Amino acid sequence: MITLDDVTLTFPDGERRVTAVDHVSLTARPGVVTGITGPSGSGKSSLLAVAATLIRPDSGRVLIGGSAGSGGSHAGDGAVSGAVDAAVLSRDDATALRRERIGIVFQQSNLLPSLTAREQVLVMAHLGGGHRAAVTRARVDELLDAVGLSGHGDKRPAQLSGGQRQRVAIARALVHDPDVLLVDEPTSALDQERGAAIMDLIARLTHERGTATMLVTHDMVHRAVLDELVTIVDGRLTDGAPAGVAVRAA
Ligand code: ADP
Ligand code: MG
Repeated sequence: MITLDDVTLTFPDGERRVTAVDHVSLTARPGVVTGITGPSGSGKSSLLAVAATLIRPDSGRVLIGGSAGSGGSHAGDGAVSGAVDAAVLSRDDATALRRERIGIVFQQSNLLPSLTAREQVLVMAHLGGGHRAAVTRARVDELLDAVGLSGHGDKRPAQLSGGQRQRVAIARALVHDPDVLLVDEPTSALDQERGAAIMDLIARLTHERGTATMLVTHDMVHRAVLDELVTIVDGRLTDGAPAGVAVRAA
């Protein structure tokens, strides 16, 4: 699971600073898709980048792994045991943690043009080092099957549709069997039908593999596949029915 605990992130903006994420506390639990919605510029991608350990927050904790304490208390009460606080790790340690435990899918699939679908996934596997480097071709093909790309392993990005490229990106994100899956607007480059299929796929993989999934979308047409939903406006989680669901560790 992943818990953001009272996270604040600012960016320089001329002589002042803009607050992109403002005291946000949010937990994504294993096997659950936690949706994050909100208007453009509200801080969704910034929040995800903090969760991904790509940006270190100004303050707050980013707790990866562990389990919710039995007290049923708010994340801010320290109710997460056995977790690593990624916000205090060195850059190298954060990178190692990310490669082992976090899968990331961005808006664009960001595939390497010269590599086949199978190679895209294998390359990611080898970045991890250690025992995870021993990912076999059979394991990669199993993942490609799981994302609906059986028989497409030898194709390069130019030979794949936008939806298929996003499926490769999802397989690549899952190759380390991550605890946490972070997905930013995965359907924004797709038509509605293909977008819906990608959302269904992410939900199914989350439930089957037990990943703690945080998924950013501004498109409420996909509301039905989100198990929980929070709304962010001006960097803050808003009050109100949908927002209340996931802000507390269960
Ligand atoms: P969203 O994903 O909801 O559209 P973002 O997280 O991208 O929102 O942006 C939130 C705020 O942070 C915006 O005001 C944006 O301009 C600002 N911001 C995001 N990334 C940067 C950056 N690298 N440098 C400066 N400001 C940024
Ligand atoms: Mg964004």
